[in-house]
Amino acid sequence: TIARPGTGAHTSVLLETVGSRHDPPSPSLHAPSAPPAVAARGLTITDSEGRDYIDACGGAAVSCLGHGHRDVIAALHEQADTLAYAHTGFFTTEAAERLGDRLVADAPEGIGHAYLVSGGSEAVEAALKLARQYATERGEDGRRHVIARRQSYHGNTLGALATGGNEWRRAQFKPLLMETHHIAPCFAYREQREAESDADYAARAAGELETKIQELGPETVLAFVAEPVVGATAGAVPPVGDYFRRIQEICDRHGVLLVLDEVMCGMGRTGTLHACEQEGISPDLMTVAKGLGGGYQPIGAVLLSERIYDAISNGSGFFQHGHTYMGHPMAAAAALAVQEVIARDDLLANVREMGAHLRARLKETFGRHAHVGDVRGRGLFQAIELVADRETKDPFDPALKLHARIKAAAMERGLMVYPMGGTIDGARGDHVLLAPPFIVEREDIDRIVERLAEAVDAGL
Ligand code: PLP
Repeated sequence: TIARPGTGAHTSVLLETVGSRHDPPSPSLHAPSAPPAVAARGLTITDSEGRDYIDACGGAAVSCLGHGHRDVIAALHEQADTLAYAHTGFFTTEAAERLGDRLVADAPEGIGHAYLVSGGSEAVEAALKLARQYATERGEDGRRHVIARRQSYHGNTLGALATGGNEWRRAQFKPLLMETHHIAPCFAYREQREAESDADYAARAAGELETKIQELGPETVLAFVAEPVVGATAGAVPPVGDYFRRIQEICDRHGVLLVLDEVMCGMGRTGTLHACEQEGISPDLMTVAKGLGGGYQPIGAVLLSERIYDAISNGSGFFQHGHTYMGHPMAAAAALAVQEVIARDDLLANVREMGAHLRARLKETFGRHAHVGDVRGRGLFQAIELVADRETKDPFDPALKLHARIKAAAMERGLMVYPMGGTIDGARGDHVLLAPPFIVEREDIDRIVERLAEAVDAGL
């Protein structure tokens, strides 16, 4: 329910908005002035004053098909007409079954089941509980420690918040959070030493996991959680070398479950359906959301390996979890339609091609910019990192709220981008994330980069 449209009164309290909450104690600058969106088609969202905005970030890497796609709308109409809701305690539905089948068929090796929920945080919560129940079914009650990485975001519910590595988000809720442990991210621009090869850096960064597991006692460690390409907290940071293969080997050796959070970087965003495909690994548990339903409905999923499923189904027989709206047929129908369009129209090829074009244009435009330290990402998941000094990589003073100024300058120019910033918890420097819909064309990208260049210079 959006109360009193136009005033922003409701959203100012309830909505988290991009790029405004990372420099404590910054006031949020967003919602009171957030324009009411009234329509959307393709790459464009229109506000109540008739102003158009190019959606260059899919909101928060959500709108992978763009807005108003006829095929998805038709699927939603049909599902609403046939069956809008049936509680999973009583029924399964064709839409949920078909989506589950599709997710499993397209998943990395070893994944055998999908558990449908309503979003990313719910998926992370379910993954953590699946990990724990797997351990207890096997009589490994001592496995309780969750290890994650400092530069990460896994959601805002309590388990997901505890897992994420953003201290500022966690600080005031700490008394409510389970104990978790954090190691360094694999973040070449910030952490790789000069003269250190990719292989050596990957080994050093992954080695932190081994050290942490030994420190806690391997038999007490339940799971390691990581985003294959770090999204919101650091800005499209891909791993280096064989980092994730090493991580998988360490997890396997110690019986620690590998949980990959692909809520933001997954479902085609990086040019393959799952980001982990590019790492040549297969997790025990994987979370997806955002691009799964493309924003047409709230939906997320946990993909789980056969061995986790088997341990639970041969043990107590059911997963001790559940939400009223899990497996919602409308959400499943929307996600199915989104995924069918992506496959039918070969949009992942466009993600790779347009991703390369976006990266080239960003490099061309910002490669020598005095205040852009890094251009990075995969597929249509690219970011620039802003620095006060390119040589020292010193960030801007967080008090400047540069990311927020750039966001505002971009909105003034009819461009939606996803900036984050602040010198907090290893997130050193402001960055701007781009995640346009997979239907984006060359001319759109050229326009996006031109407007971004203007917005960056206006914001600096
Ligand atoms: N995990 C990652 C990697 C995310 O980026 C997000 C959201 O940004 C979440 C989990 C939480 O998803 P949601 O906001 O749908 O609860």
